[in-house]
Amino acid sequence: MSSQRDRGRVYFDHNATAPLRPEARDAMLAALDLVGNPSSIHADGRAARDCVETARERVARLVGAMPSEVVFTSGATEANNWVLTSGWDRVLISDVEHESVLVPGRRSTAEIIPLPVLTSGEVDVGRIADHVLCGPGTGRDLVTLQYANNETGIVQDVAAVAGFCRAHDVAVHTDAVQAAGRLPLQFDALNVDFMSVSAHKLGGPKGIGALIIRDGVTIPNAISGGGQERSRRSGTENVAAIAGFGAAAAAALRDISHMSGLQQMRDAFEAELKVLTPEAVVVGEDAPRLANTSCLAVPGLRSETLVIKCDLAGFSISAGAACSSGKASRSHILMAMGLDDKVVNGAVRLSLGWTTSKADLESFLKRWRELSGGATPLGQTVRMETSSHRRAFP
Ligand code: PMP
Repeated sequence: MSSQRDRGRVYFDHNATAPLRPEARDAMLAALDLVGNPSSIHADGRAARDCVETARERVARLVGAMPSEVVFTSGATEANNWVLTSGWDRVLISDVEHESVLVPGRRSTAEIIPLPVLTSGEVDVGRIADHVLCGPGTGRDLVTLQYANNETGIVQDVAAVAGFCRAHDVAVHTDAVQAAGRLPLQFDALNVDFMSVSAHKLGGPKGIGALIIRDGVTIPNAISGGGQERSRRSGTENVAAIAGFGAAAAAALRDISHMSGLQQMRDAFEAELKVLTPEAVVVGEDAPRLANTSCLAVPGLRSETLVIKCDLAGFSISAGAACSSGKASRSHILMAMGLDDKVVNGAVRLSLGWTTSKADLESFLKRWRELSGGATPLGQTVRMETSSHRRAFP
């Protein structure tokens, strides 16, 4: 297996997907050799079942839930779609949610109530309270509020919102994809009914995630069939992916204490970058923020240009404005925060994780002047690769 350094590249895109942890890889390889179907009652089936249930316990521990509350899905997109399309009367959706929440919300039959965010990127909790109180109180209202944002790392006060909603019989879903493994999570104490998580953001495989559903809460089953996942999502389990998810969850929980070190590295990096480029803006600098995320803009530089230059120099970073067919689409998250156009058009994201070292950040800073100098000024068109459809910011 070639590491990022063997490949001569530095990977700063953990919020898009984190490199596979060795523990996850080993668990998946071992699980691939299990011949049984977890639903079979013979010894081979029981071995596969044990593997799935061990992983369920590990994921439950990561998020502070009971194993019976964990339902494996194909990822957080499926988990988010499942909750959003479960027959609500009204759904309150924050403006900074991921597309996998926003799009099914728009397509559902529910009345959608958008929740604006303040310039800090934090949702206006008072607005939620106003809407909740003026609703008809049918018991079929949902608030969906992400735990932490994928572009900025800004953390929402889900506990406060969920406590209020619980007291008024309103269900709460939180998309905790970016928070899991980076912040300690306590599903049971949080008063939320649903939580979405995804393996590949914490060093597990892609294409596996979970919806955590509070015991006693019912929503329509996601997929009907043979009754797997307590009938909530039928279909033979993806045993190897589930095993990899479990192993990654255990490793991420073990490593959560490293987050303070990562935060120090990130903060020192941002401080140094601002010395080199005083006009640089750190989005969400004063808000509660994930330790691993740095969303930066240099007014006057276009994010697409910076991403390409970084790529050519061996650094994988992301742009706040995803781009296709030469047309940049602007980040709905940064726009919802009311940021200046120059910041929205210039924002790039570096997201760090279990592979990141201080040397990685230093090597980026060493090249920063060359990377940030001479980028295409705003107003000039930049053509990126010619994919025919708009890709959402991962
Ligand atoms: N929510 C957030 C906040 C995300 O960052 C992502 C991944 N980009 C998703 C949901 C979707 O997760 P998955 O890739 O597992 O479908």
